[in-house]
Amino acid sequence: MEDVALFHDLEALAVAVRSCQRCRLAGGRLHAVPGEGDPHAELMFVGEGPGYHEDQQGRPFVGAAGQLLDELLAALGYRRAQVFIANVVKCRPPDNREPEPDEVAACRPYLLQQLDRIDPKLVVLLGRHALNAFFPEAVISKAHGIPRKLDGRTFLPVYHPAAALRQMRLRDVLEAEFRRIPELLAASIPVAPSPAAKPAMQQLSLFG
Ligand code: URA
Ligand code: SF4
Repeated sequence: MEDVALFHDLEALAVAVRSCQRCRLAGGRLHAVPGEGDPHAELMFVGEGPGYHEDQQGRPFVGAAGQLLDELLAALGYRRAQVFIANVVKCRPPDNREPEPDEVAACRPYLLQQLDRIDPKLVVLLGRHALNAFFPEAVISKAHGIPRKLDGRTFLPVYHPAAALRQMRLRDVLEAEFRRIPELLAASIPVAPSPAAKPAMQQLSLFG
């Protein structure tokens, strides 16, 4: 498979995502959902992939799970435009099935480049697929709520908002874990820019 180009900015990346044919999910999409928000956000969220409403609108988290995400953000005093919201796969899997490993792998260079360009202080991983995109061995039922580091960056795995909508108990857990976000942001030390960023950058295009 062809490597993904390196994009100098998020808008160029979004343009490429909208016409991407790197995996079979391209065939079923109405609109790709590259992600959106503040390109310099200190707080970034990674979800699983677009559902029906996201595919219709080309925007992330605009359905029921998105409404809960908006409420959780508002409780912290954040508006959506102040954070960046992306997904592991940018195109909707058919019938809302879970993304397949080869689809996640095909889409991964986009996510890694988004992370690299935005350079957030904290990345909140929404659910199992987001968690496993960065920590393949981790299990969400054990990892949720516990911050972890990768390449100097802080990640907070939490349950997916859609899971919290199905189970009231998880909703309480999710709310409590969101309340830790300000403290984690305050504690996080920005990741040093190059030269450390350089080798990582080169790796971004090597997935495929
Ligand atoms: N669920 C996700 O994981 N991502 C979205 O964009 C919407 C719902
Ligand atoms: Fe490309 Fe990702 Fe969409 Fe697959 S899911 S076609 S890799 S943008």
